[in-house]
Amino acid sequence: MLEIKNLNVVAENKEILRDFNLIINDSEIHVLMGRNGIGKSTICKVLLKDENYEIKNGNILYNGEDVTLLNTYEMANLGFYLVNQSPLAIEGVTTAEMLRASLLAKGDKTNILEFSKSLASVCEKLHLPKEYVHRDINVGMSGGERKKLELIHLWMLKPKFIILDELDSGLDVDALKLVSESLKEYYEMYKPSILIITHHPKILSSLTPDFVHILDEGKIVKTGDLNLALEVERNGYSNINKANLVSGQDKNE
Ligand code: ADP
Ligand code: MG
Repeated sequence: MLEIKNLNVVAENKEILRDFNLIINDSEIHVLMGRNGIGKSTICKVLLKDENYEIKNGNILYNGEDVTLLNTYEMANLGFYLVNQSPLAIEGVTTAEMLRASLLAKGDKTNILEFSKSLASVCEKLHLPKEYVHRDINVGMSGGERKKLELIHLWMLKPKFIILDELDSGLDVDALKLVSESLKEYYEMYKPSILIITHHPKILSSLTPDFVHILDEGKIVKTGDLNLALEVERNGYSNINKANLVSGQDKNE
């Protein structure tokens, strides 16, 4: 279980999150929505300990352990995995090399032949040419291809806590369907916790969320179910009825 308590986060002297609270239990699917520039990517990066974001106050607990001060490597070792909103291209390292090194670092004993076989079958599952994994990470790939490549990492590294920051942006209709179904298959097989940042309920047609939260002014101002995401799509963020405000924490407990 992940517990984020009264988090205050600052980047370059700007306070982005203020008293942010959220509890995500094992195997729950949560959606975080909110206007552009409101702090959604910030919460993702804070969870993976991007050093550009300073935690001024509050705690992050994972399975009862205080992980507020852990670094990115340690969070990844605990099973956290972030699909960035805009995955970076990295020259000089191929996706296959990076995945092999990550698995070895985790103590995985798979031999190189088995590794190649499972990588090939994941590529097939995601309709990605096998050669892509032998190219430098994301170099020359379109936005949509980068997002699909991220899912290769997911199937190979098998994280327990998945954060998807606008996975759906840049994907065409067919790719979105494929990616959503692949995520659903992963969820059913491994039952991870998932935090989905999205503006579009389409990705939620395969993955039904347990909770949908609206972020505003640094904290969660409303929590509901899938209907809340549909309401946002229909009426926009400014018309969300905030009359019955429920904090993520209250609703979750
Ligand atoms: P969202 O993902 O909801 O669109 P972000 O979390 O990316 O929003 O950004 C929230 C706000 O914080 C924005 O105003 C953004 O410009 C600012 N911000 C984000 N990261 C940084 C940073 N590293 N340094 C300074 N300001 C930042
Ligand atoms: Mg963002």
